[in-house]
Amino acid sequence: MTDLPVITHWIDGAPFDGTSTRSAPVFNPALGAVAKHVRLAGAVDVDTAVASAQAAYPGWRDTSQARRQGVMFTFRELLNARKGELADILTAEHGKVTADALGEIARGLEVVEFALGMPHLTKGEYSENVSTGVDVYTLRQPLGVVGIISPFNFPAMVPLWFFPIAIAAGNTVVLKPSEKDPSASNWMAALMTEAGLPAGVLNVVHGDKEAVDALLVHPHVQAISFVGSTPIAKYIYETAAHHGKRVQALGGAKNHMLVLPDADLDLAADAAVNAGFGSAGERCMAISVVVAVEPVADELVAKITERLKGLRVGDGMRGCDMGPLITQAHRDKVASYIDVARTDGAEVVVDGRGIEVDGDASGFWLGPTLFDRVGTDSDVYLDEIFGPVLSIVRVGSYTEGLTLINRSRYGNGTAIFTNDGGAARRFQNEVQVGMVGINVPIPVPVAYHAFGGWKDSLFGDAKAYGPAGIAFYTREKAITSRWLDPSHGGINLGFPQNA
Ligand code: NAD
Repeated sequence: MTDLPVITHWIDGAPFDGTSTRSAPVFNPALGAVAKHVRLAGAVDVDTAVASAQAAYPGWRDTSQARRQGVMFTFRELLNARKGELADILTAEHGKVTADALGEIARGLEVVEFALGMPHLTKGEYSENVSTGVDVYTLRQPLGVVGIISPFNFPAMVPLWFFPIAIAAGNTVVLKPSEKDPSASNWMAALMTEAGLPAGVLNVVHGDKEAVDALLVHPHVQAISFVGSTPIAKYIYETAAHHGKRVQALGGAKNHMLVLPDADLDLAADAAVNAGFGSAGERCMAISVVVAVEPVADELVAKITERLKGLRVGDGMRGCDMGPLITQAHRDKVASYIDVARTDGAEVVVDGRGIEVDGDASGFWLGPTLFDRVGTDSDVYLDEIFGPVLSIVRVGSYTEGLTLINRSRYGNGTAIFTNDGGAARRFQNEVQVGMVGINVPIPVPVAYHAFGGWKDSLFGDAKAYGPAGIAFYTREKAITSRWLDPSHGGINLGFPQNA
């Protein structure tokens, strides 16, 4: 390593160097330069983090709900007051523009606020006198140590989808953020400590596959929450389940927006641009395919193209609309689809290479890119490109558009744009996708509903946050109770019946 700052793990309430000598560069993507290094944990460091979480668990589990809630309330206040600091960290390591970084934090804060209701959300049920003198009641109890593995594209929001709920419910956590933008997790863990969280309840280990694999097989880790690409989500789901853990594993996406001929085309064009190019398209809920039902495609493409001319690409700290991509390699891979599109017979309406940027020339830039008449057998249509690239597919009818969406291997989000309530209602019923927007392009559910897709966008059946998050991080226990009464004595080997 050089004299650049080194990001360490956060274990037992303090920075922790660990034993591994491996590290990875962390870039400022707007400068195209290495800004820091991050330590990459090996199995020994992961074991240290899990041991810290395991040791903290009994005390935290038995801490009163009022005290646990008190910590979460303080964290909420601190995070809200200092969100600007966190937004700067996100922009410096991820590249997203400040307004977008603040938006990500706001959606994460929503989950913290949801978790504040934990005493109410985990209340049990009570049935009196189910048999003579017998009562039955249920409790929801925490699991123990839980692991969270998060992707690069939401370095604050995705960890916030999970750890506030896990911790408010009485679990302890080992968080393994993306090694591409790791600082946000340390910053949030330090803030939790400032809010009064005891040491060991929230630990952060940095690393790559080696650290992830150590978590997946660790005997003291009870559950794994994962968000990332589809192949890794599938691997995590299978491996962690094989090792006896609960798993929630959210994967990649290719989200379609269906525009019916009766839609307001100005609103639809605004929505397509916002949802296609916000965060440089590096969102799992980004719209990457606009399915235009004829005869509106020409007009819609013209309106989208017009809007792209006004987008300012550049350093996220300078009030631009769109920042750089996460790495040079990712930028080059995304840009390579422009040649694929041409070769496959699509029309390249806007080519984002070589655009003028408000930023350093070495940044990982690619401007907004628009393809029309994309064939559905082209890799441009089939792959999750995860960049500022929007494809237009033209169809002749609602049914043709719906069939296309339902044939996709992904089912994360989708949207329909129409003024026809009947068509929208039919779509919400017929579409094979987990999150649906009606004239809403990025239908990320609020924190008190759950987030999750269908098909290859989610493995297993556990969605993130909302009621699903409560169910995931707690186990129900049913108690059947009878206080001693001599009239109930006697031997009876038959299966218990109520009377
Ligand atoms: P990724 O799958 O490369 O990495 C996610 C996490 O897995 C990281 O912490 C990484 O260190 C770890 N990882 C990477 N390769 C691994 C391997 N071989 N074995 C074990 N662990 C490994 O994803 P990413 O590039 O960081 O994030 C972008 C992806 O995440 C996109 O596909 C996007 O759609 C998806 N995503 C999905 C959602 C959702 O809610 N469905 C939300 C955000 C992002």
